[in-house]
Amino acid sequence: MLIVGAGIAGLAAANELASSGLNVTVLEARDRVGGRIFTLHSGDIEVPLELGAEFVHGRPPDLLNLLHDAEAPLQSVEGTDACFTHGVLSRCPKDDAAFDLLEQLADCLHSEGDMSFADFLERRQPSAEDAERARSFVEGFNAADARRIGIAALARQQQAEDEIDGDEATRSIHGYDLLPLHLARRAERAGARLRLSSPVISVQWNSGSVAISTGDGKTFTASKAILTLPLGVLRSRSVAIHPEPSRILAAADRMEPGSVRRLVMVFRAPFWKERMPPKMEQVRFLFARGTAATAYWAHQPGDAPVLVAWAGGPKADAAGDARQFLSQALRSLERIFSLPAQSLDGELRNWYMHDWQSDPWTLGAYSYAPVGALDCSAEMAKPVDNTLFFAGEHTDTTGHWGTVHGALRSGLRAARQILNAP
Ligand SMILES: Cc1cc2nc3c(=O)[nH]c(=O)nc-3n(C[C@H](O)[C@H](O)[C@H](O)COP(=O)(O)OP(=O)(O)OC[C@H]3O[C@@H](n4cnc5c(N)ncnc54)[C@H](O)[C@@H]3O)c2cc1C
Repeated sequence: MLIVGAGIAGLAAANELASSGLNVTVLEARDRVGGRIFTLHSGDIEVPLELGAEFVHGRPPDLLNLLHDAEAPLQSVEGTDACFTHGVLSRCPKDDAAFDLLEQLADCLHSEGDMSFADFLERRQPSAEDAERARSFVEGFNAADARRIGIAALARQQQAEDEIDGDEATRSIHGYDLLPLHLARRAERAGARLRLSSPVISVQWNSGSVAISTGDGKTFTASKAILTLPLGVLRSRSVAIHPEPSRILAAADRMEPGSVRRLVMVFRAPFWKERMPPKMEQVRFLFARGTAATAYWAHQPGDAPVLVAWAGGPKADAAGDARQFLSQALRSLERIFSLPAQSLDGELRNWYMHDWQSDPWTLGAYSYAPVGALDCSAEMAKPVDNTLFFAGEHTDTTGHWGTVHGALRSGLRAARQILNAP
């Protein structure tokens, strides 16, 4: 059995198949496991810094069990949400009409069919302010363009999140990388072979046989393969699959890989703590209107002087390169906290950002389903001739695209498809 990719989907599948006694080899392009879980244990700060996934959204039981096995304690992300609107920083409104709009998605879908979130807003005609907040939330959270993401996908996702208390957020105190490292160790103990720094360049297959070639000139053969290539990589055709699985690629082309900028800033001190309005010492997320980022948040728990700036969808596309985004984020923070212009330059100790958009092993942040593309994940989850199996967050069929637990489920699903095949 061959598995391409040692992100959560690939490692979950490897673990399941190797534990069932199958001969498994995992081919991974990078020199590390985890893919879009990418934790930096930097020497200049005592806390782990996440450059990819950070939060466990809600209580997905399979992921929580694994994190428990990985001895990765979770910390709940607590505090009030802050809004920076018209130049004022205050607690976000409790009864937020912008979020009420999201509750109307399912009804609208039922009566009027799928449409883009932007069209939905146009038909509902909320106030300009509510429309902008709802749009910013949808784009930021889903890495999506509101003119493209479909309300069918949003409604499906909302239902899926409600089932696992998706509003709650926790994080792995000692780093999210404990999860892939644990899965990799378990898979290896069960007999799987992990080959890092082995970028796959081609997949040649016919019914019941696969030959996969890597950049270093090696070829691996097996009777079946699971490909967990991220959506952006699949769509780019940078891995030549011959013959082309046209049904899978057509579905991949209809989904979108999404855009995100996630900047981690390490300051000399947590300057924001003393500048928060009264009774808002502990802020969970800060949503800032009219600034470069959709949201900011501080590292929790403790007093680590770390702030994250996040932009998703069109804001991420417009953010420029890492230095430009950094400069915009610093200027925005000076406005939010009423600090003199340029004063944060001297407070910044270090900063980190991984460019997932141009990373050749990802080519995007995480997937979303545009109007009319709700069926694509299920299409990609169907095996090709009982020989090629596709997994990865974009193939999750339970409404959890773009998450670690969605990726995990897709890997387990692909493994089961193989184990249950005749
Ligand atoms: C900035 C950012 C923040 C996020 N935040 C969260 C969050 O807070 N919570 C959450 O639940 N999710 C979050 N996500 C999404 C989550 O990280 C992903 O959904 C999940 O990790 C995807 O897992 P995967 O196995 O499908 O893909 P990946 O992790 O991308 O794994 C695919 C693997 O395939 C490898 N690969 C690619 N091409 C080749 C090739 N040619 N040959 C061999 N190997 C190859 C890659 O190197 C990679 O290791 C975030 C993602 C990003 C980018």
